[in-house]
Amino acid sequence: MIVAIDGPAGSGKSTVAHAIAERCDLTFLDTGAMYRAVTVRCLAQGIDVSDADAVTRAAQACAISFGRAEDGAQTVQLDGADVTQAIRTPEVDANVSAVAAVPAVREEMVRQQRELAAASATGVVAEGRDIGTVVFPQAQVKVFLTASAEARARRRAVQRAGGDEATGSQANASEEEVRAVLEAIEKRDAADSSREVAPLKPADDAVLVDSSELTLEQVVARVEELVVAARQAEAPVEEPVAAEEPVAAEKAVAAEEPASVVVPVSAEEPVLAEEPAPADEPQPTAVAVDVQDASAQPVEAAQPQKAPEPEAKPKDAKPKESKPKDADAPLKLWGNEREDYFRTGMRDYPAPVRGMYHALLGAVGGLSKLVFRWRIENAEEADAFLREHGCVIVMNHCSLMDPVVMLVHLWSHGIRVRPVYKSEFESNGFLHWVFPKIGALPVERGTADMKMVRWCRAALKRGESILIYPEGTRVRSDDEQVEIHGGFALLAHTAKAPVIPCAIVGSRNIKPVGAKFPRPSKLYVRFGEPIEFADLGVRGRKEQVKAMEERAMAAVWELRSKLRIDHPGKL
Ligand code: C5P
Repeated sequence: MIVAIDGPAGSGKSTVAHAIAERCDLTFLDTGAMYRAVTVRCLAQGIDVSDADAVTRAAQACAISFGRAEDGAQTVQLDGADVTQAIRTPEVDANVSAVAAVPAVREEMVRQQRELAAASATGVVAEGRDIGTVVFPQAQVKVFLTASAEARARRRAVQRAGGDEATGSQANASEEEVRAVLEAIEKRDAADSSREVAPLKPADDAVLVDSSELTLEQVVARVEELVVAARQAEAPVEEPVAAEEPVAAEKAVAAEEPASVVVPVSAEEPVLAEEPAPADEPQPTAVAVDVQDASAQPVEAAQPQKAPEPEAKPKDAKPKESKPKDADAPLKLWGNEREDYFRTGMRDYPAPVRGMYHALLGAVGGLSKLVFRWRIENAEEADAFLREHGCVIVMNHCSLMDPVVMLVHLWSHGIRVRPVYKSEFESNGFLHWVFPKIGALPVERGTADMKMVRWCRAALKRGESILIYPEGTRVRSDDEQVEIHGGFALLAHTAKAPVIPCAIVGSRNIKPVGAKFPRPSKLYVRFGEPIEFADLGVRGRKEQVKAMEERAMAAVWELRSKLRIDHPGKL
């Protein structure tokens, strides 16, 4: 059981989460304390918090853990030293948002948070800013707790003066103090909500609770109700694909593994894979929710509402998914929901869709062959293997042509393959419409997209292959720092599928750095040997996933180097 409580500073998340942990027998995970601990380390070492590299190094060297004081209060340790008090100073308040906005810091903290959750036997109640959206998007209960900035400032000021308004223990806080806290809170709200990476916002499926007018007991009771309801609902009902493997196993996977889904987000989260970027690649659309507005929603006491959609959706926002009506039903000839294509085997797509697929790949294939004269060098063996096994194919990524070449080649050799693409591409209406019909699978940046994991696993088990570009965004030069999104290995592991490394050269010559227009360039592709988990020589899921990630990517780059030697000038 994972309970996610997100919300702005001072909304009472910690107090509520703590109470829920007690009542529902869950482990309390205060993720804000973790960012604060990193901030303490930076301040202690005189690190400038605007120096992202230095802050990242400091974060990566921080081992954060939680304990309990004699009175039952939670304590926070940084490399074994108690920092429970040190993380609550105004200096930390003033600097923590800058630290928390560094993508690599978030990546490290999210990793540690998932590890802590995976270690809990009972489940966790985690509170923070991105719990329901990024850290545990699969959480069974998601609450977005908010309150007016004034109410939050008053609470904090009272707390600082030694009392706790929420529990009725009063202490006097001067109006001046309240104003100072309000100013600091508003600054932090603005920074947390507008940052590019994992901004503070309610998850689409979060329940919004405005605590401005509620007592602590009312809020806790409401969240407890949600936990009880989720526990009752947890039992049997699940999506059909999930039946293929125990749900609990999936949760364990999700909890331990970085959301490995497509590229950082908001990036900055581990990502599964990235896909071909069209010429004018859309930027991730981070929807920042105005916390003030959210808290200003009229919410009746003890009647929390579903988190509202942000009012003004960006123009290119992803069209809303609608749920397939009957997940078991065969597809209709036309007019199916998108998810129907993700969950159904490509062989069972309706005839008109298959017809369109063949026509499209035939046309694109012919044209691309004419212009780029691409050649797959050692396809025979790999093709034979791919016909027999659903595999995860990983490849280097320089150009839009990379997936085109692979799709056309595999299609023309009777191999069904599903490319994974980042869901941002769906802001393009045509791609949104066509991708599902060619078997492509969307992956949500920065989230542990469990639906996607289930679709991929089901596809692999059916014998379809998955094509992933773990380098993320197209890499245009050898000097570019490449971040590998290792989710591919996790995906392969969930289906115990082999991974096939593959490399392409020549596609970077299509539009070299600085060139205005693309130009024809001959492309060469080479497959490597399939790598099976059993061959890795390590035991344990985590170890195997890591070893696969390293081995497969090393193979991709080695293949690329050999191709470059054999085809001088091709990049
Ligand atoms: O919750 P708390 O006020 O202790 O969090 C301190 C800061 O840590 C927040 O203002 C925010 O910048 C950052 N934070 C975050 N993501 C979380 C938790 C906290 O960015 N999950």
